[in-house]
Amino acid sequence: MWKTTTVIARRLLRWYDRSKRDLPWRRDPSPYRTLVSEFMLQQTVVATVEPYFARFIARFPDVASLAAASDDEVTALWSGLGYYARARNLRRAAAAIVTDHGGAIPASEAALRALPGVGPYTAAAVAAIAFDARAFALDGNTMRVLARLTGERRPVDVPATRAALHARGLAEVPRRRAGDFNQALMELGALVCTPRSPRCELCPLAGGCRARAEGRAASLPRKRPRAERPIVRVVCACITDGARVLVVKRPRGLLAGTWVLPEAADRGARTRPAVARRLAEATGVSVAGVSYRGAIRHVFTHRDVTAELFRVDVDVAVAASGPAAADGRWIAPGGLAALGVSSFARKTVALGVGR
Ligand code: SF4
Repeated sequence: MWKTTTVIARRLLRWYDRSKRDLPWRRDPSPYRTLVSEFMLQQTVVATVEPYFARFIARFPDVASLAAASDDEVTALWSGLGYYARARNLRRAAAAIVTDHGGAIPASEAALRALPGVGPYTAAAVAAIAFDARAFALDGNTMRVLARLTGERRPVDVPATRAALHARGLAEVPRRRAGDFNQALMELGALVCTPRSPRCELCPLAGGCRARAEGRAASLPRKRPRAERPIVRVVCACITDGARVLVVKRPRGLLAGTWVLPEAADRGARTRPAVARRLAEATGVSVAGVSYRGAIRHVFTHRDVTAELFRVDVDVAVAASGPAAADGRWIAPGGLAALGVSSFARKTVALGVGR
């Protein structure tokens, strides 16, 4: 094993200087760009984030412009990226930075932690990357590398193991280039010490890696057996006047704050058409016909959703002038992109209107 902490840092930084990817948030770096990228990168891979980041920065180039935006504007730019609470929290964090910090992103982990949506990982990552604070960001990549380096046998999704790995990672952070060290370990996990087939022959840390020495690299890190994902069944109503569909803003739970088709729990095949009709009637429209369009299955991180989709045709005049559900909006399917909609919502609308 390594005798000093500096050996890891030195080798890792040398490798990083040679191998780091040219990523948009690394060009022209600033605390704001780091904050946005770290929010986007939570639960999402780099390749997916890149185009979203570019569009987001073009529209909201600084904290002030983001703080002044509406949730809908921000969520619209997030549309398809998933985990929409991140978008709303990022906007709230920007507002808090303007109100409480005069528009300057705070440099300490503690102050960053106090911002909406900023957990231990994001606070450490921003403090280290943007301000070179001696902090350590434990994410899936860095945890995997450390678990292998140390030959960690305990499941890494147990708090005590995570705390031990965090302490080990923090002990390795050098006094200078703390941000680069964090990014280097993340990069090593993304490019070399990958989940299934670690490329140990390319690894700058191979000489001190316990998992490699013991031939256990691919079987680490260990995790507790995963609980089965619950299956959720819903009836969705694509209420349409032929040109537009009615979408509603989901107040809470999965996809909270995004625009979706009205839905209700699925109580079985016989009741589905009536449920779809009731969903429409609850918005005050006059129903002209209900037709089954098919089922959509969508796998989210924590649940597996099957939506039985019904098209509900409504009277044009009533749809145009009548009341909609609270927080409802009539919109042409082509206009969905301007709203914050998930890929699940886009699929349901496409099936509902027959596109
Ligand atoms: Fe990962 Fe292999 Fe490097 Fe160990 S030697 S850190 S298992 S890539």
